[in-house]
Amino acid sequence: VPTAIGVDIGGTKVLAVGVDTDAPLAVLAEHRVPTPSGDATKILDAIASATRVVAGALAAAGRPAEVVGMGIPGLVDTSGRLRAAPNLLGLVGVEIPPRLEALIDLPTVVDNDANCALWAEVIVGAGAGARDAVLVTLGTGIGGALVNGGVLRHGRHGFAGEPGHMVVDPSGPECPCGRSGCWERFASGSGLAMLARRAVEAGRSPAILELVGGDVAAVDGEHVVAAARAADPGALAVVDEFAWWLALGIANLVNALDPELVLVGGGLADESDLFLARTREEVGRMALGASARTGTRIEAATLGSRAGAIGAALVAATPRGVGPGVP
Ligand SMILES: [Zn+2]
Repeated sequence: VPTAIGVDIGGTKVLAVGVDTDAPLAVLAEHRVPTPSGDATKILDAIASATRVVAGALAAAGRPAEVVGMGIPGLVDTSGRLRAAPNLLGLVGVEIPPRLEALIDLPTVVDNDANCALWAEVIVGAGAGARDAVLVTLGTGIGGALVNGGVLRHGRHGFAGEPGHMVVDPSGPECPCGRSGCWERFASGSGLAMLARRAVEAGRSPAILELVGGDVAAVDGEHVVAAARAADPGALAVVDEFAWWLALGIANLVNALDPELVLVGGGLADESDLFLARTREEVGRMALGASARTGTRIEAATLGSRAGAIGAALVAATPRGVGPGVP
């Protein structure tokens, strides 16, 4: 499949790209629309409209798309039905491919958004050529994906790769999933903010408190990053604590999967120079037999905000990731 459309569906926007799957980084066409709130019909119409714009541009360029891939932030089962998606409730329960195929008249493949992002990274990004790779995406929560033996793994139901809900502290903060102390409560963007609020409340970071004008509840990850970049010792301590929590979950994944590569993606990947070295050090202390794991690298993902859309196109070109994409 030389030309494919990839669509990344987020809680706030839908990004569609048209790519040559042999050279996917040179995006041929691109369009984005806001994700409407409301029911499935409204959301699917928005997805279809973004897809049609890109399909039209590709056709006009003499490169008509043959297939569409979609990355969705939630649990997608093997039939393409969305089974859980806290930020896309209107689509939960919907079997997406047939509904979209009726609107856009192109074969459609649906997968989890982090799965798509990892597939892009192992084909043309930071993990190019890796056969055993794990992705953790740090955003509001933690998404994840797993490539093992060169194959994107989906598990029995299609739900594999949700490391954000590994419990790392049963007495920790409540998680929207219903349990307490999930990894994403500590090591995501919102986890960073939580750690910062705790530090501010304990009087350990007056610089962050100043940035929010004294309103502790307003502290978010960006304030921590800003204060850390200004070398505030309190903020740097929060970042170190964050790096430790990130390492805790990564060490668990390393123990379970023995990957050659752990990629850290999502919005916080742009700030990874602040914490990734510390995280590598801590994983080196925590993982079983760490000194013998000379082939495990922990790196930042490199494809940025287009990874999900490009990866969705590549997943569609190699359905369910069981294709020849990885050597
Ligand atoms: Zn949870």
